[in-house]
Amino acid sequence: MPSDRLLLRGRLLTFSAEPQSPDDTSAFDYIEDGALLIENGLILRRGSYCEVVAGAGDAEIIDHRPKLLMAGFIDTHIHFPQVQIVASWGAQLLDWLNTYTFPEETRFADEGHAAAMACRFFDLLTDHGTTTAVAYCSVHKASAEAYFEEAEQRNMRMIGGKVLMDRNAPDGLRDTPQSGYDDTKDLIAKWHGRGRASYAITPRFAITSTPGQMEMAGALVAEHPDCFVQTHLSENKNEIAYTLELYPEARDYLDVYQRYGLLSDKMLLGHSIHLEQREIDALAETGARPVFCPTSNLFLGSGLFDDAGLRSKGIVNAIATDIGAGTSYSMLQTLNEGYKILQLQGQKLHPFRAFHWITRGNAVALGLEDRIGTLDEGTEADIVVLDSRATEAMALRMERASTLAEELFVLQMLGDDRAIDEVYVAGKPQKGKAPAVPQPAPARTRKTPATRERDLVLS
Ligand SMILES: [Zn+2]
Repeated sequence: MPSDRLLLRGRLLTFSAEPQSPDDTSAFDYIEDGALLIENGLILRRGSYCEVVAGAGDAEIIDHRPKLLMAGFIDTHIHFPQVQIVASWGAQLLDWLNTYTFPEETRFADEGHAAAMACRFFDLLTDHGTTTAVAYCSVHKASAEAYFEEAEQRNMRMIGGKVLMDRNAPDGLRDTPQSGYDDTKDLIAKWHGRGRASYAITPRFAITSTPGQMEMAGALVAEHPDCFVQTHLSENKNEIAYTLELYPEARDYLDVYQRYGLLSDKMLLGHSIHLEQREIDALAETGARPVFCPTSNLFLGSGLFDDAGLRSKGIVNAIATDIGAGTSYSMLQTLNEGYKILQLQGQKLHPFRAFHWITRGNAVALGLEDRIGTLDEGTEADIVVLDSRATEAMALRMERASTLAEELFVLQMLGDDRAIDEVYVAGKPQKGKAPAVPQPAPARTRKTPATRERDLVLS
């Protein structure tokens, strides 16, 4: 039987801790002429090319020099049914949900539509270098089935859940406390821990769930403590005011979730912008994870995420696109806008911390850093190959870049899907099957047939 071993050659960058300053080189490992040996979807060896090739046997060699190999990006908050309402004009959160989001999500009751959109959604993720995401599906069980089925076919490590919402939404987009509970139980039984899938119990947010449904969500969390939990928190001031009207007994917005037992380090709280001191203390105590969604917060005019303030309390912040209120699938563009949001507050997002954040940092937020987010031996071979000269503007800028930090900052500010040269999911190339090359091989660029063919069909 032919070996399924692959040896990827290129420049390697992987993090072992969060860099504490722009020149904290103790937090990462950079190998100029490095190699990864991959077998059965796992990284078997990492080291210099000379070291790794010596023990690689008959592995197929793919030469990515001079490109940069990092762990695949992780997106910790994204809405799968919103792919066709990205860039919808003119509203803030609550109007935006009513005008665009809810009508669109009703279409996901249809299995065929959900399956077709799942295919496009996963293509978009990998085209942008994202190999793991935590997604909200629609209220319909069929949408979560389509999502997990597509993820399984691609062998991607994905987390997701059907939203629980039983009020303040149109007909066809509400469940009930009992049906939401039953559907979630079925989905957990079928998908959680199957292959690379994990389930996230997903009350959409306080406004769209009755106290009865929140109680059911609490029961689900108690019965499945190893599942993730995701919701939204304090994105917009009108949202907060309405939440407190609906839950007059709650001390604050976070208390709605806290009183039903949802908070733990398995919980992801999208946005978490306008927080009271008590809420910040509760996040620190319970380990729940705020999720920074920069392009979405700017697009909807929601507010500025206080990254440094939360971090100073020991809170672990994740970062995400929040498509479809977010405006880019790219975690690079997410870093770009995140950098600017922190600039407005006198805070910094230096490139080493930025690239740590979208790889190992988000893996830590998910408690999955022993499986994804690094190029460590024994972890899953989800890998992105970055081209810091992907566009004319980037190439020109790179002529003046002399350090790795400068190169990373070019990717952070100017990069998008064009900078993603190749993506490996569990060791399998996603963009184009790379031909074997004899060693030693010259650097070369490969095009992306899958993407280009699709573009042609569309145009
Ligand atoms: Zn969201």
